[in-house]
Amino acid sequence: MRDRTYKQVVGGDYLSDKQYFVVATALLVVHLILEAFYIWLGATPMVIINIFSILTYVVSIFVLIRNKVLLSIWIMVFEVYLHALCCCVVIGITCGYQLWLYGTLSCVFLPFFLPGLNGFQKKQIGIFSTIIVASFMIITALGRRGLLPTRYNATFEVASALYYVNAFLGFSAIMFYAAAYNIRMSEKNMELQMAAEHDFLTGIYNRQRMQKILDSEILRAQVFSDMHLMVAIADIDYFKKINDTYGHVAGDEALKELTNVFARYLDAGLLYGRWGGEEFLLIAPEDMSYDEFAKLLEDIRQQVEDNELLIENAKIKFTISIGAAIYEKGDTSEQLVNLADDRLYKAKETGRNKVVY
Ligand code: GH3
Ligand code: MG
Ligand code: MG
Repeated sequence: MRDRTYKQVVGGDYLSDKQYFVVATALLVVHLILEAFYIWLGATPMVIINIFSILTYVVSIFVLIRNKVLLSIWIMVFEVYLHALCCCVVIGITCGYQLWLYGTLSCVFLPFFLPGLNGFQKKQIGIFSTIIVASFMIITALGRRGLLPTRYNATFEVASALYYVNAFLGFSAIMFYAAAYNIRMSEKNMELQMAAEHDFLTGIYNRQRMQKILDSEILRAQVFSDMHLMVAIADIDYFKKINDTYGHVAGDEALKELTNVFARYLDAGLLYGRWGGEEFLLIAPEDMSYDEFAKLLEDIRQQVEDNELLIENAKIKFTISIGAAIYEKGDTSEQLVNLADDRLYKAKETGRNKVVY
């Protein structure tokens, strides 16, 4: 299925397609039950109106299947609105159908403050919300003054029972929409946070996140003078050659493979992230001496050297060079990283595939 456009996503589309399908089917079933109820009640106009409602849901399910989610939502919302009003007019406001307008309003109005909604969409929501509130007021006023037709009005007992059912359904609709909206928004927030702090290709922390971690580690190191803060920069050797020889996709695979090697040291407390194209920043596990860190880096280098990447029958081998540095009192994060970078440069200059610290 094609990804939906941004416009569609912000246009009130805060349930998943599957959830909308469930909503449409549930409402179709409700109207089938209502049909039997209206026939029992002998409210002929409602029997006819409800047939239109049933057809409307068949259409909205069809529209949903054709992937026109937004159109389907509007059809359903209008149906609920019109059906509630028709019920109030035909069988009387004592049945409480007007309470459905609360649920309808929450569905229509909740997306109003979604970022990215354009003026036209806001206007649409604003106008329809106003119409819903005004309709509620008018229908209540007319009903209370006895200005609505009474011929098919439900009996007191039936109206009372219906009132409770409709009140329950009205409240439930509000709760359902509020819950669905909040869940969707927190999912979106998490997606944004993930995207903001992770590298798209490898899934590991990106530079922004690593910089944040490094800054807070520097602050900690300033306070706790016995703390060892050590970093390293690892860079793939002759990476351009891998791209040129085997293609960019193979290059991407090599980057991912390298992060798999780093991942073996996660449990030991190694922090790592993508610092640039084929450069990775590593922050040493806590409570490690500089020599131990150098040994860990040497292990990583060796594992990368021993590794063999199989891409379309081509066996690709590559190596990395690493420069490491330890925090000295007064260093900024920039100075610390620059020192590691200088040593990386030295590793490159003196033959590559080595650790300089
Ligand atoms: P050196 O041993 O001196 O590090 O040489 P090198 O070829 O590794 O370094 P150079 O800086 O000349 O080239 C880095 C290459 O990395 C160039 C760029 O196209 C490639 N690169 C950067 N990001 C990506 C990426 O996400 N995927 C792929 N496939 N290549 C990338
Ligand atoms: Mg390189
Ligand atoms: Mg580089």
